[in-house]
Amino acid sequence: MIEKSIAVLGGDKRQLFCAKSFAREGFRVYISGFDRLVNYGDLISTDIYTALNNSSVAVFPVTGIKGNTVPVYFSDIELKLGKKEINALKDKIVFCGKSDTIKSLCKDICVYDYLACEQFAVANALPTAEGAVQVAMEKYEGLISGSNSLVIGYGRIGKILSRLLKAMDSNVCVSARRAEHFEYIIADGNKPLNTKEINTLNNYDLVFNTVPSLVIDKKVLENTDTDPLIIDLASIPGGVDFNTAKSMNITAVHALSLPGKCSPKSAGEITAHTILNILKEEYGWQKQI
Ligand code: NAP
Repeated sequence: MIEKSIAVLGGDKRQLFCAKSFAREGFRVYISGFDRLVNYGDLISTDIYTALNNSSVAVFPVTGIKGNTVPVYFSDIELKLGKKEINALKDKIVFCGKSDTIKSLCKDICVYDYLACEQFAVANALPTAEGAVQVAMEKYEGLISGSNSLVIGYGRIGKILSRLLKAMDSNVCVSARRAEHFEYIIADGNKPLNTKEINTLNNYDLVFNTVPSLVIDKKVLENTDTDPLIIDLASIPGGVDFNTAKSMNITAVHALSLPGKCSPKSAGEITAHTILNILKEEYGWQKQI
């Protein structure tokens, strides 16, 4: 095992940008599952076993692994975790998103689920909010400037998204459920609303939901006789009754995985930043340059 070297195993463009970030910080980086690419820069492309054998840290994709297979998007060769790869993981610091499968496969290893880190979730809110604006610009036939928008939820994403929409001159209403959040919403220059009091979407051109609970239900939709564009950002099952919206010809988009789709570079850099922070805080790692 080589100190201060990192294996980035499989995944999409995000993992590649994550690997490049590690290399920029001066670490030796082995990648596996990217052999269809031509130019690797400072990255060392190799098979999964060699990558693991030469590294002290293993980074798996944000989407986790499926069974014993690591998803690959830039290779025709399957990336499998067989017996010797699982053995090689035993003395590694392992990072993986949605880590349940890898934890059940390799019982004696310590796995950090970076997807569950608060730092990752906060940093990811900006690319998600920008992605939501991108979806709105693609699907909405008017301008965001001058539109009436509703952002449901004032958590990580709701805070940033409502500020972005305000900066684009939308008339923004933001719903929340906590008294202190109403004060922040007013301080942002936006209009507050209690999430419980949403009973129609009639006043809005654009509606963004961030609440992971059914807030735009049948009743709200049936009280709506306009055709707002609804963009639901909440993870599956989301917060919108999509069947009723469809039956009423109201466009409702479940816009998921926006950081990966809209800004893979930033999403990958956020992953690298989160992982390097854990390595620094818990293992004393420092930049190598
Ligand atoms: P968050 O910080 O937890 O914010 C969620 C908001 O929903 C908070 O304002 C919370 O209120 C409110 N809320 C939760 N349950 C509620 C309920 N039953 N009634 C009323 N309000 C409720 O979460 P986030 O990071 O902004 O993420 C929001 C959602 O987007 C999550 O489902 C997350 O998995 C998903 N997500 C999507 C993408 C994408 O690409 N689409 C990317 C990342 C995350 P309090 O503050 O009062 O608790």
